[in-house]
Amino acid sequence: MSERAFPNNCPYCAETDLFPREDGWECRACLRAFSLKYLGMIERGGGAR
Ligand SMILES: [Zn+2]
Repeated sequence: MSERAFPNNCPYCAETDLFPREDGWECRACLRAFSLKYLGMIERGGGAR
């Protein structure tokens, strides 16, 4: 498992122009910077669907 999750798309504009920065990622399409946070494990089969 990699230490840092790699986002496939920008969560704000859905573009793929993402570049890593020291505290997260930046989107060159909408010029937003963001970070992905690991929140923990979920229980299998326990969620609403
Ligand atoms: Zn974006």
